[in-house]
Amino acid sequence: MRRIIISIDGHSSTGKSTVAKQMAAELGYAYIDSGAMYRSVTLYAKEQGLIKENILQKEALLKALPEIKINFSWDKGVNKTLLNGRDVSELIRSMEISESVSLVATLPEVRAKMVEIQRSFGVKGGVVMDGRDIGSVVFPEAELKLFMTASAEVRAQRRYAELLASGQEVSYQAVLDNLQSRDTMDSQRAVSPLIVPEGAIIIDNSEMNPSDQFNMILQLAKDRIYRRV
Ligand code: C5P
Repeated sequence: MRRIIISIDGHSSTGKSTVAKQMAAELGYAYIDSGAMYRSVTLYAKEQGLIKENILQKEALLKALPEIKINFSWDKGVNKTLLNGRDVSELIRSMEISESVSLVATLPEVRAKMVEIQRSFGVKGGVVMDGRDIGSVVFPEAELKLFMTASAEVRAQRRYAELLASGQEVSYQAVLDNLQSRDTMDSQRAVSPLIVPEGAIIIDNSEMNPSDQFNMILQLAKDRIYRRV
């Protein structure tokens, strides 16, 4: 049975990672969260004092780039993101990181390094990767490309509930503002902007229930695995 590449791109907080993880578990594939990689570089920059008041010292970060090693580990079904060997899975999810990540993600040198690592995960197929440029830049040859979207209000409500559940104190408005500014920055940047990749299937899940969405995507994947389309 062939092992395909599934790319899941789309707007922030559309549930890409949730469905990507479910798909990977169901098919026995690897799941790669490309956003976690940009978030990890952002955390590194913050911790080194290279981002202050949302201003990034680009040159200093580019110089430090070779020092930044990002890996993933799968421990008893739990995905962990490792920054220079340290588990940063929780730290990279904070609002503080969300507010600065687009600054880091606009740098072509950072993107080139991330894309190289991401492609190395796909050499043997059997990968589900979510992000913003996976079907357009990282794996334009992916057998199944999805683009997920939903209304900004629905997305903000979902993300707000998640942040509250993880104990972070934030307002709904701050979450909505952050998503909208990330969407704008991600869609308008010069390098690898967020676009609907050629050949991608668009899924608007504003009013879709998660299990229907999962079953639909699983069907799309099986059609490609068994070459029915
Ligand atoms: O997916 P997530 O929301 O965690 O991604 C965080 C940020 O990383 C995005 O807002 C975007 O700026 C950047 N990103 C990107 N390309 C990817 C994945 C994420 O530019 N493939």
